[in-house]
Amino acid sequence: MQRRLFVCAAAWLIFLPLVVAGQTAAPEISFTVAMPRPHTHLFEVQVAIKRAVDGPQQESLVMPVWTPGSYLVREFARHVQDFAATTPAGQPLKWEKVNKNTWRIVTNGARDWQATYRVYANELSVRTSELNSSHAFWNNANILTYLDGFLKSPSTVRVLAPDVWKVATGLPAVPGQKNTFRAEDFDVLYDSPFEVSDFKTLVFNVKGIPHRIVIDGAGNYEPERMRRDVQKIVETQIEMMGGEIPYRDYTFILHLRATGGGGLEHANSTALGYPRFGFRILQGDRATSASPMAAAREPDYRGFLGLVSHEFFHLWNVKRIRPDALGPFDYTQENYTKLLWVAEGVTDYYTDLFLRRSGLITEGDFLSATARAIQTLQNTPGRKEQSLEESSFDTWIKFYRADENFINSQISYYDKGGIAGLLLDLEIRKRSNNAKSLDDVLRYLYTEFFKKNRNYGPEDFQKASELMAGSSLEDFFSKYVRGTEELNYDAALEAAGLRLDTGVGPVERVYFGADLAEEEGRLVVRRVYAGSPAYEHGLNTGDQIVALDNMRVTSSFFNARIAEKKPGDLISLTIFRSDDLSTLPIKLGGRREGTYRIMPLPNQTEAQKRVYRSWLGVQN
Ligand SMILES: [Zn+2]
Repeated sequence: MQRRLFVCAAAWLIFLPLVVAGQTAAPEISFTVAMPRPHTHLFEVQVAIKRAVDGPQQESLVMPVWTPGSYLVREFARHVQDFAATTPAGQPLKWEKVNKNTWRIVTNGARDWQATYRVYANELSVRTSELNSSHAFWNNANILTYLDGFLKSPSTVRVLAPDVWKVATGLPAVPGQKNTFRAEDFDVLYDSPFEVSDFKTLVFNVKGIPHRIVIDGAGNYEPERMRRDVQKIVETQIEMMGGEIPYRDYTFILHLRATGGGGLEHANSTALGYPRFGFRILQGDRATSASPMAAAREPDYRGFLGLVSHEFFHLWNVKRIRPDALGPFDYTQENYTKLLWVAEGVTDYYTDLFLRRSGLITEGDFLSATARAIQTLQNTPGRKEQSLEESSFDTWIKFYRADENFINSQISYYDKGGIAGLLLDLEIRKRSNNAKSLDDVLRYLYTEFFKKNRNYGPEDFQKASELMAGSSLEDFFSKYVRGTEELNYDAALEAAGLRLDTGVGPVERVYFGADLAEEEGRLVVRRVYAGSPAYEHGLNTGDQIVALDNMRVTSSFFNARIAEKKPGDLISLTIFRSDDLSTLPIKLGGRREGTYRIMPLPNQTEAQKRVYRSWLGVQN
């Protein structure tokens, strides 16, 4: 605003008419989302356009093809039906579809016109929408079209729902208008999911700012404990980021169902899904991660806290500290960035770190989860094929469409990105004599980029890290971020007086090299690791293993028999590949490595102890 005061008079002559024209032509855009028959899964949407002056002869409504935070083109327009356009008096207007997600309406310069359509919504996930007789949840990018050329315009959303249902969203309410909310532009609109149901609410305040957890579905959670622990996570993160709270209020929308889950981040809300009976409190260590690849583990309460920690931290890392291409968004196609390893991986690193610093997990929990993550990466042949930047850039066609070849050709930017974040953090702490850390890099990006309304690029992230380290990190970034060299764990862990123990023993353990799963009573090959005995002898993903050494197998039988073998032993697998029965001989291999652990170094220096304590938030 201030800069305009100094614009010379000549410039005013040029700019003034444009500004005035832009303002007067800007339409008022109001949506109504109705659900008169919830059991049909059909939302009834009306979009009304109003102007103070005549509009253009034709206008287009566009449905996003993706929703930010979930990097896959999902073609939300495929759920739209019964499209119509009319004048406010109900006179039909001509329209045609001009591509998969665009409706062009012949408005003939009308100041006011409207369109109506229905959207089928029967898929509950954090990135999709569901309407049924028990609730409504939707992402606006799934059901609301934008007026082409007016993504910067404000809009309102009025919700018409059954009387017994309440409405929760991160959007501010319009005073005096029932269940009506306002979005300052379409990036905000599409960043604000709605939950409409008879949900339960847990509330707490941090520095006078209200937070609520809106829960749809029953489960074995303890409400008081959940409220207390979520508040701890929120407070720990706010403190680390400098103490300032960058939102007016925050809403956690939590869906509890029999299975499944996940999270999607927004600027002042998040959508979370978690198994309803997944809140058991287990003793002992266990990894937490929001990575889709980690979804197979048995859920517990710590996993839920990890999900909260991950999605909440995104309100800084990705929603405000924004990578180059991630906002404002192009809703018609892929938005490419090489920085998802920072947006997701570094967030995943902090997921557990915040739980540790909040006192919700122990140092031992944190270190063993880290060791497990490292072991997973080291067991992924794809780490030699794809860099963090490549993994980020190609997520639209690779990570989000992972197939059986994933482990052999790719890495997860969550998993390797989290480990790279750890290594970078410890490297900065070592070089700065523990004066600076990755925390400082994130605070710097928040102040120097978000506060100055800028997105950051890959060079900016490296420069910010170098600024904190006090010297060049070109070697680190070229090898580990842009390249595929093996990570040097001990060099990093040494800064905190730790080392990685890969469990190498005197005796080789037998190595087969495929992951199996029991499906409807059949033992099926899920993945085969490149270079392993199973891979080299021709076992395929999808093969059904019927017998081992001519004995019928179950999963437990197979594992028990293999464990009895020695490296070099020959086994005979009877398999169905498609409908054909055959026998496959496999010579088993051997490995010396066991379970990875992070161990203290003997004779730690005071400097190492200081790094360890400030890194993991250890008091005294
Ligand atoms: Zn995430």
